[in-house]
Amino acid sequence: MTRPATHDPTLLVHGGAWAIPADAADDHLNGVRRALEIGHEIVARGGSAIDAVEAAVTVMEDDPTFDAGRGSFLTSNGRVQLDALIMDGARMKAGGVACVERLRNPIKAARLVLEKSPHVYFVGTGAEEFAQANGMPLIDNSELVLDREIKRLAEAQARAASGLADNSFSGIQDDKGPETAISFDSHDTVGAVALDAYGNLAAATSTGGTLNKTPGRVGDSSLIGCGCYADNLSAAVSLTGWGEPIMKLVLGKWATDRAAAGTPPELAAREAIAYLYNRLGGHGGIILIGPDGRFGFAHNTPAMAWGVATPGGMQVGLKAS
Ligand code: ASP
Repeated sequence: MTRPATHDPTLLVHGGAWAIPADAADDHLNGVRRALEIGHEIVARGGSAIDAVEAAVTVMEDDPTFDAGRGSFLTSNGRVQLDALIMDGARMKAGGVACVERLRNPIKAARLVLEKSPHVYFVGTGAEEFAQANGMPLIDNSELVLDREIKRLAEAQARAASGLADNSFSGIQDDKGPETAISFDSHDTVGAVALDAYGNLAAATSTGGTLNKTPGRVGDSSLIGCGCYADNLSAAVSLTGWGEPIMKLVLGKWATDRAAAGTPPELAAREAIAYLYNRLGGHGGIILIGPDGRFGFAHNTPAMAWGVATPGGMQVGLKAS
């Protein structure tokens, strides 16, 4: 029996929230547009929300513009260390990997965890070995490292050595205390949320984490309910921003709970970002979609690369609220 297609297939993506400079604007817009094209085509022809978010995030991991996959920020010892989570709101299944260094597309490894493991989350070499055992090639970490990022790390470390806080780099000051100290530095994590024609929700988030992070540090992006969450009974969400405050508030789940309690998705998104700032002085961005197709974007950073595709067309931008 064929299932009835009852919903407008919809895909939302983000490519980070920060003070995206003018000379990087086109790359960000083109990157989110390509992700929408590939991902929305899947749900438009009756494919699943989970396949769409995986495909959209894969496109952005492969795009060196973003802090995900190749071209990610470097750890303090000059390596790329990646985190990713994918969640299927129809089956309430999730798969996550963290601190992986030898996988080109960590979101694909996360999907393998979701589909092929009784566990939910793998880290480090265990995650890499699991991915390899399930058909993913292991690469050398140097294949993920760009010269641009070696230079960026050296500059960040020089600033740190001279006692300058990272936000002095952007020239933006904030009065909320230590939680905001690096909040306007670049945050190019990528994410996608989707609703398919059958009413199923999914979410995916992938990141190289924060610039100059200590090896082994895991941020919000790959933690369930923090940087990513999906449940058909509430909403699907992906976040970006400085991970530590987002984690402490379990902000993704906070936002989807709000939506489940009846708050319209556009308002739940705005309220989540307001809560992030009011409670911890945090900065970031969010995309959220509910089971009825209503959605919301919000950020309290100067810009957020975002996009949405529906049967009515596609829209991308750098300011969402
Ligand atoms: N949230 C990510 C992290 O803290 C960074 C980002 O969004 O760019 O790892």
